[in-house]
Amino acid sequence: MRIHVTYTGGTIGMIDSPSGLVPGADLHGWLDRILEGTQLGKGNVTITDLNPLIDSSNATPDNWQAIIDDLWLNHDDADAFVVLHGTDTMSYSSAALSYALTEFGKPVVLTGSQLPLGMVETDATANVTGALNATLYHRADGVTLFFGHHLFAGNRVTKNSSWAFEGFSSPATGPLARTGAPWRWYPVERSGCGWVNPQPYSRHDVVVLDMVPGITAERLEHILTPRPEAVLLRAYGVGNVPSDEPGLTDVIKVAIDDGVPVIVSSQCQQSEVLLGHYETGDAIAKAGAVGSGDMTLEAAYAKIIFLLSQGLRGKELAQWICKPIAGELTPAYKGKE
Ligand code: ASP
Repeated sequence: MRIHVTYTGGTIGMIDSPSGLVPGADLHGWLDRILEGTQLGKGNVTITDLNPLIDSSNATPDNWQAIIDDLWLNHDDADAFVVLHGTDTMSYSSAALSYALTEFGKPVVLTGSQLPLGMVETDATANVTGALNATLYHRADGVTLFFGHHLFAGNRVTKNSSWAFEGFSSPATGPLARTGAPWRWYPVERSGCGWVNPQPYSRHDVVVLDMVPGITAERLEHILTPRPEAVLLRAYGVGNVPSDEPGLTDVIKVAIDDGVPVIVSSQCQQSEVLLGHYETGDAIAKAGAVGSGDMTLEAAYAKIIFLLSQGLRGKELAQWICKPIAGELTPAYKGKE
């Protein structure tokens, strides 16, 4: 088994500096020492350091594309791929990769750590060996994310703790596997229609917006002026917005009429966005807003950027939200709204 590692940055390879943690640890030497004497010892693992190594809080869709480019560059020289990534936006990147790599045909596992590799109690060793080991099982298809003894579908996962070693979860589906001797694997539906020859990721103007008690139509109008290319509206529960607030739903309707797709997700980590279930979600559904089903915020955001990068706009883009491309939502939601 030959594995290619794409190292993007993140806490895993950071060292202390006067201004806080920055990239700079000897990740290559550390990995060599861990793998020495194992079936992945010298020669079977290659590494690319992306330039520059970043804190993933600085990631943009351009960084997603840089990872994708490195994976394709090394596609023929490895059987499986591991991406070392900062934890802060790792679930955005893993979702983004899942849409763009439906034709890749080889497993890609992202991982990172809460503590740098140089610390005695670091989780870097368990996470990196876990990600490598996931590929050895030959069951980790597509894009996945390994963290805290669990393997997750890359577009079903969210960072739910800034400090816990089990810092990620899959609220809608649960994990694909958990470590042990041997690992336990769980059935998770991951079908999607795929995407042939996707255009590269590019940056787009997408507003991600939370509903809060007391939000006014005027404030919302200001946020949506000038018009963004799309809106991801984080509503309450199953997709409810304040319907009694004068003019609020009208602002959303006018934005949609202006050609802005409005995608409604939920502030609940575990959600089933069903617009029209309550009167408070009905008005925006009638105006043309679409629910994001049980997608995570990260999967929905990355999907919007993916669709915009493919040149889709307005209603055409909105229609793709309920269609699984890479298993990012439960198929039962397809066309339900
Ligand atoms: N800020 C870091 C990053 O996302 C956090 C981490 O890696 O855990 O790059």
